Amino acid sequence: MTSKVRTRIAPSPTGYLHLGTARTALYSWAYARHYGGEFVLRIEDTDVARSTQDSVQQILDSMHWLGLDYDEGPLFQMQRLARYHEVAEQMIAAGTAYRCWCSPAELDAMREGQRARGEKTRYDGRWRPAPGKALPPPPAGVQPVVRLANPPRGHVSWNDLVKGPISISNEEIDDLILLRPAPDGSAGLGVPTYNFAVVVDDWDMAITHVFRGDEHINNTPWQINILRALGAKLPQYGHCPIILGEDGLKLSKRRGAVSVTAYEEAGYLPEAMLNYLARLGWSHGDDELFTREQMVQWFDGSHLAKSPAQWDPAKLAWVNAHYMKAADDPRLAGLVQQQLARRGVAVEDLGLLQRASALFKDRCATVAELADWVAMIFVAVHPRPEELATHVTEAVVPALRSLRERLAVIEWDKPTLAAAIKDALAAHQLKMPQLAPALRVLVCGRAQTPSIDALLALFPRATVLARLQHI
Ligand code: GLU
Repeated sequence: MTSKVRTRIAPSPTGYLHLGTARTALYSWAYARHYGGEFVLRIEDTDVARSTQDSVQQILDSMHWLGLDYDEGPLFQMQRLARYHEVAEQMIAAGTAYRCWCSPAELDAMREGQRARGEKTRYDGRWRPAPGKALPPPPAGVQPVVRLANPPRGHVSWNDLVKGPISISNEEIDDLILLRPAPDGSAGLGVPTYNFAVVVDDWDMAITHVFRGDEHINNTPWQINILRALGAKLPQYGHCPIILGEDGLKLSKRRGAVSVTAYEEAGYLPEAMLNYLARLGWSHGDDELFTREQMVQWFDGSHLAKSPAQWDPAKLAWVNAHYMKAADDPRLAGLVQQQLARRGVAVEDLGLLQRASALFKDRCATVAELADWVAMIFVAVHPRPEELATHVTEAVVPALRSLRERLAVIEWDKPTLAAAIKDALAAHQLKMPQLAPALRVLVCGRAQTPSIDALLALFPRATVLARLQHI
């Protein structure tokens, strides 16, 4: 009987949701949805010093924004300490883990000696029980750690869903610490190490498929050995390559935005982020644009890229522009309203924002760009002197003045505005390409805009008259 597919994403709340984690979350989610399984969110908060509630909130917000809905969670590791202790005791009783009383100073000395002899540094197993081996009495007043009794020989092999067959010798890895004592004087339970907590959780949560970054490949043999020691069924692992920045180096904070939140704030749409992230490490033929539903339909765990993908802001902008065009205007209006609010511009008239979004969205790659355009209606514009000099010439000023007079009294709609502009052109023997740029520069602050009558109709009459006042 095959078990139900269960995947998880397990971010550590030590910062925002990283793009790489968002991508593995997406793969885990899509895989579970494709196979009618379940997707779990687990918060790995055992790094107590660096975990914050604020990061937890950011992770939850980003998951929500991306629409990666989970069937269980968020589960918090720090709420499961008793369980890790219980499993550690079980392993000690079974002889697959043991207590080790080495002090940090002793461990340092051990490593120094190994280095001096040109050996690989590793725990030398001095507290590991063995038949016929006499262990010293535990030193008084020292709280022991619990270590895995790692198989000393043989290989750990698995068929990685992304990388294919991987095999690592047990001689490469040592007796990992599973559990540390609680800090001196603390009454609480000690905290497990990453590898131990992951294994207990993946086991308890019946996780069948683990997608994660390939920086964890070296942890996987330990995790497999712990699972074997527990007699647990192994999940299948898929290690996704890192995402490279534009410069070919690891995508990092120092070289641009790496958080999902930053892209949300910069005006990208979640469906564009999902589409772009999905393609960054996975393909379905030549398809570049696809919906969430298509992704779920197509994502069966095959066609995952073995080599790292490079972050490409131009492509992301292209994908986003596609979804901007497809987005409906009321939604865009709400997003533009939020963007403007962040800039301190409060706009209540959603109808106006909707009409403005419809007019400008085709030329924008992001909601932030759309807000730049829409802002011209609400915020004073500052035309560049050279543009004023080029377009607002002696030849057009008389026509602008008479147009201004008409604009003060006519009906304020697109056909009437178009007729008034046409009349001004005829009366002053000008052509549209002479008058329109002048109007644009004065009213909109830039010489290139969508059709001027449609644009003027968006503005309040008083704003247009005020901007034409000084000619
Ligand atoms: N907390 C780990 C991380 O964020 C999870 C790794 C895993 O998925 O096992 O990298």
